[in-house]
Amino acid sequence: MTGTEPAAQYIDTTRPHPARVYDWFLGGKDNYPVDERLGRQIAAVDGGGAPRAARANRAFMHRVTRALAEDGVRQFLDVGTGIPTEPNLHQIAQSVAPDARVVYVDNDPIVLAHAGALLRGTPEGVTEYAQADAREPHAILEQAAHVLDFPRPVALSLIALLHFVADEDGAHELVSALVDALAPGSCLVLSMMTADFEPENVEKGIAAYAAGGVTLVARSRAEVAAFFRGLELLEPGVVPVDAWRPAEAPDGAGPVSLYGAVGRKR
Ligand code: SAH
Repeated sequence: MTGTEPAAQYIDTTRPHPARVYDWFLGGKDNYPVDERLGRQIAAVDGGGAPRAARANRAFMHRVTRALAEDGVRQFLDVGTGIPTEPNLHQIAQSVAPDARVVYVDNDPIVLAHAGALLRGTPEGVTEYAQADAREPHAILEQAAHVLDFPRPVALSLIALLHFVADEDGAHELVSALVDALAPGSCLVLSMMTADFEPENVEKGIAAYAAGGVTLVARSRAEVAAFFRGLELLEPGVVPVDAWRPAEAPDGAGPVSLYGAVGRKR
């Protein structure tokens, strides 16, 4: 599914890319000067909120994936995977259940270029990578069906993805198309940006991204909750990602500007 074509020829190093800016926020090395420049600009104007939110978001992914694997979920479809950062989702899932099957999807060629790290899973399990766009959910489902058994539960994660897809660009339609394909007992895991807590800093961050050619949308708590219509929201509901079943006491710096939540299909 990964294809064998060299991805590097498609990587545009003249414009910042969301996956690479996020990698810079996480302290990764798979980014270019243009990404670092935008990352620094954002961190300077938003009070350091973005790097902190990126780390909290990654920890949210770890906790949710572990919780769902411990709850018996054995299949994972992760859309908007990002550049590999250990531990990756399959490593968490397969540490609980070595036979877990994981399909990763991203539309950025830089992620494809690093997909090798996403494919080193357990011998009992499966990990696959598909390059596809979240706005084409049927193409994702078709590719994922080579690995995932859709009559059985799947954890579908779109983590730190939907703030790159506005409602007008079909954010709700893509979520519905993916969720509709899932069996009862499946889960939807989302995290996305909000301006509910630090509106001025988030506005400045959005403006810095926009100047770099990247459009971002912030959503209110109610707008995030709307993605879970028809699903049973798991405790503690829609909360800042650092408050979703936290493993540690809060760091005292206030909520991060990303909401996270998990819903289950009945
Ligand atoms: N889910 C990871 C990475 C988040 S960064 C984590 O939370 O740690 C967001 C990722 O979404 C980037 O890798 C970016 O390339 C990807 N992305 C953005 N828009 C996308 C789209 N329309 N289709 C698929 N992936 C997309």
